[in-house]
This record gives sequence, structure tokens and C-alpha cells, in this order.
Amino acid sequence: MSVSVALRLPSIDSLLRHPACQPLAERYGREALLTGFRQLLDDLREAVVAGQLTAVEISPEALAGRVTERLALKQRSQVRRVFNLTGTVLHTNLGRALLPEEAIDAVQLAARYPLNLEFDLASGKRGDRDDLIEGLIRELTGAEAVTVVNNNAAAVLLTLNSLGARKEGIISRGELIEIGGAFRIPDIMSRAGVRLHEVGTTNRTHARDYEAAISPRSGLIMRVHASNYSIEGFTARVPTSELAALAHRHDLPLLEDLGSGSLLDLTRWGLPAEPTVRQALLDGADIVTFSGDKLLGGPQAGVIVGRKDLIAKIKKNPLKRALRVDKLTLAALEAVLGLYRDPDRLAERLPSLRLLTRPQADILAQAERLQPALAELLGEGWIVTAQPALGMIGSGSQPVARLPSAALCLRPQVSKRLRGRCLLNLEAALRALPIPVLGRIDDDALWLDLRQLDDEPAWLAQLGQLQT
Ligand SMILES: *Cc1c(COP(=O)(O)O)cnc(C)c1O
Repeated sequence: MSVSVALRLPSIDSLLRHPACQPLAERYGREALLTGFRQLLDDLREAVVAGQLTAVEISPEALAGRVTERLALKQRSQVRRVFNLTGTVLHTNLGRALLPEEAIDAVQLAARYPLNLEFDLASGKRGDRDDLIEGLIRELTGAEAVTVVNNNAAAVLLTLNSLGARKEGIISRGELIEIGGAFRIPDIMSRAGVRLHEVGTTNRTHARDYEAAISPRSGLIMRVHASNYSIEGFTARVPTSELAALAHRHDLPLLEDLGSGSLLDLTRWGLPAEPTVRQALLDGADIVTFSGDKLLGGPQAGVIVGRKDLIAKIKKNPLKRALRVDKLTLAALEAVLGLYRDPDRLAERLPSLRLLTRPQADILAQAERLQPALAELLGEGWIVTAQPALGMIGSGSQPVARLPSAALCLRPQVSKRLRGRCLLNLEAALRALPIPVLGRIDDDALWLDLRQLDDEPAWLAQLGQLQT
């Protein structure tokens, strides 16, 4: 008991009755406050036993202060807003596409009120949640039928399982890709119960390779858009129209996993060409799958479009129930798709497209404007410059394409030996801000790509709290 002698702590009862604690009880609840004090006092006693603490008296005010810090930290949401200054716009680890206001409103409505999720208001009968977006997606892609699931990985899995289980899926060796997060085409095929029949080589696959692979065991031909890598040089691939004709001659469906799958030709905004869903269908693909939150700029979802009879088969698969989308996603998706009806204004209204098409001159001007504030903040030890930089679309879209952007380049003025440590310290300090700032370390400097810095006032306002 020498501990309680060395450390004179007030009783928990007296603490709870102390005036300094009344507002805390109101804010966090009596229960949480009680637990907070118990843990704090236990920790203090332990610290004394461990010899880390020698203070003999701590005032109730000081204890209340410490418990407030702990409770505030505990109450803080685990889901945190961040500033994505990495230069990668559709960053999978940072939540990919940002939703337009129209979609945010739709999500709020769907969250707050009952809705006709699976209810046909015209007939008063049970409906199908896909009906909510089917018309719009058909209009935008020219597809006969549509179904939507949790993400594109689910779309591929469900499609393969519905159309090719216990049969062979023919695919080029050049398209046996890994998307990341352990999503590998051969593994997904096997999980879907489809036997992989690979044809051709990594760099060249010909129509005759597919032809030779077709047998009574064949169930489908698959094509995967190699979205996250590129094969250049001595290459050959069969155009979709030719592959579709070949598949149809043998009565096999052609599936095309487009990955990002754009609904419009992005070159009109100066972005790299990406195959459109409409074109893939026109070329003869029977089923096309694509993501909702990549170039489309919507919520996480996997869209499956194509032939009516095949979509009907896919919808009957019990897996569909396990992979279906929720009402919030559907609400957001409908709102985002609605914006595509007016392509002329899309780049103003869809955040991902607006960010992707932001002119470099604009971003550079912003970097030059912010440079003095940051240079002053970091002081002697750092050289801060506004620099042109190269960003990426992200999410595996157009991996070789670079987006001309601009960044604040923060270079430590220390010996080479200390540079790495210095950069990591600053990176960690930026991450510890109330709204964490995420940049990227490259070439002995920390780069803050400003393409996505919309909310300049909020960014500047918190910089004073940077602790380096
Ligand atoms: C991104 C991607 C996927 C996975 O899509 P998610 O929506 O992330 O599940 C599948 N296939 C290709 C070709 C992709 O690019």
C-alpha cells in the first residue's frame, strides 16, 4: 500500500461530484466518465509502481483535464476525412471517387426515409432494386439489361459463376492479371467454379489460339481490360468485334471485364482514351462489367450489363443475393448516372472528372500562392518550392498515363544521412493534423500534389498546429 501513500489521489466519487467534472458528465455521459476516471487512476498507480511517476499529488482539475483528452480521443470517429495530396486522384486506399452534391442529397434521403427500394409504386407490387437504375444504365450504355452488385470484383465473380460454372473459361495469357488486394483473375475463376483455359502468350494472342481452345467443355470466352499494366512492343490481341464473332460462331458468350469502364469518351476532356461500355457492347461483348467508383465517379458498385437472357441467368444465381448493393449505393448511383445525361456540364458537376481535368496552370498557380505560407511555417530547415509534378488517375486506370499537375515540394536542408528521417517525421506530423494531410515522398523530398486541394481555407487553418 505504499503506492497509495506516494500518490495521493482523490476518490472517484469525489471526482464525479467535483464542479470541474459536471460539464464532462453531461458531454460524455456519467458511465463513460466513471470508466475514464477508473482507467486514468489505474494508469497513474501503475506508472508510480513502474517508477515512471514521482508526483505525489494531482489536483481534480488536472485529472479532469486528462480524462477529457482521453474521452475526446475515444469519441473521435474512426472514419476520418483526409486531404489527398498524393497525386493519385482515384486512390483506392482513400475511398476513390468523391460524390457530387446530387448524390450526397440522394444518399441522405435514402438514409432518412423509407423508400421504394423493392416496391413498384405503379402496381403496388413487390419490385426489384435493379429497376431503380436499369432504365438509366440502358440509356447510357445501349445495353439490353442491367444488374448491379457490391463492386466490380463481385460482378466478375457472379458473372463467371452464373455463366461458366463447371465449364472452361477461355482467356488470353496476356489478361491473367492481378488487380490488387488479392484479386487475381485465375483465382476468381477457380472460386467461381470455372476451369481456366489459358491461350496465347503474355504478349501475343491470336484468333487461332482461341479457336483451337474451343471444345464441348467450353463455357465462355473472357476478356479482361488490362487496366493496371500495359504491354508494349511486339504485341497482338484480337479485337473485341472479332473475338465476339468467333465466340458467337461457337455459341459461347463473350464476357468483358472493363475495370474502370467509362460511359463517355474521355478524350473530349483531354484524358487518355479508355474503352467505353457502349463500344464494348457494340463490338459484340455479351456481358460487360465495370466499377462504379473508378472513372464513372460514383459510389462503390459493380455494374453488369448485356444480353437480357444472360442477365436474367445472373440475377437468378443465389450469389446475387449475397453480393447485392444497398439502398444508399443505389441512391448515389442513380444521381451520378443522371449527370451523364448532360455531358456538356459533366466536368463541372462530377467531382472526379472536375479534378482529373483541372488544368496544370491552375494547380501551379495555387502552389505558388501557398508556397510562402508553408515556407514560413517550416522555417530554416526546409526549402519549399512550387513545382510541376506528375499525378495519376489511380484505381488501376491508365497506369502509364501521367496527369500533368503541380505540387509543393518540401526538401529538408540536412545531411544526406538525416534526410530520410526528416522526411518521415514531417510526413508523420502532417498525418497527425486534425484533418490528416497525405503527400508522397520521392527523390528526397515530400511532395504535396495540389490537384485535389479544394478546401484551401480548412487546409491553411490547421497548419499552425503542425508539430515538427
Ligand atoms: C478495378 C478492377 C476490378 C475490381 O473492381 P472493384 O470495383 O475494385 O471491385 C476488376 N477488374 C478490373 C479489370 C479492374 O480494373
